[in-house]
Amino acid sequence: MELVLATHNAHKVKEVAAILEPIVAGLSMLGYDGPEPIEDGTSFLENSLIKARAAFAHTGKASIADDSGIAVDILGGSPGIFSARWSGSKDDAQNRKLLLAQLTDVPEGNRQASFICTISMVSDAGETSFTGVWPGRIAFAESGEFGFGYDPIFIPEGFEVSSGELEPMVKNSMSHRSMALSQLASFLRPQ
Ligand code: IMP
Repeated sequence: MELVLATHNAHKVKEVAAILEPIVAGLSMLGYDGPEPIEDGTSFLENSLIKARAAFAHTGKASIADDSGIAVDILGGSPGIFSARWSGSKDDAQNRKLLLAQLTDVPEGNRQASFICTISMVSDAGETSFTGVWPGRIAFAESGEFGFGYDPIFIPEGFEVSSGELEPMVKNSMSHRSMALSQLASFLRPQ
């Protein structure tokens, strides 16, 4: 089975392929180099559908897209869908710096946050979406060299290290993206 992955983010392509390919036998992930639609949805669900629909329209093949981000409780769920450009630019380091600065005076007990990922699939058969939520809290400083985005400042529930300190295999076994992808895998290969 061929599945187009509608993202230009190399880290995501790597993570998605690493999670999905071992679960769904015979799956062949195709890259997407078509036009990027305007992501003007107001939720992870809407934005993931916009991207998957654009890839399906362009390629005519079953397409998946994810939309993801980090939601901080005390900020009312922000950065949320604006995670990638929270500081005004796409610079991950600047985004992390701003978020840490916004939480400077917030004590450990009030720093709850979640990574959220919605994956949508659009094909001839219709549209379907799956969401994964990975709870944790925002650290006081950066640590770790793995992952991307907010990984160096996100401490997953049950851990005392950031997701940027977790080996990719460990992160991929429990992350928001892996939760959403596991649901997609079950959908693609019903038990
Ligand atoms: P998207 O490409 O529009 O889905 O933007 C997602 C943004 O959320 C990324 O640029 C990251 O800043 C953040 N993000 C999403 N998933 C992760 C993750 O697994 N680790 C770290 N940051 C993430």
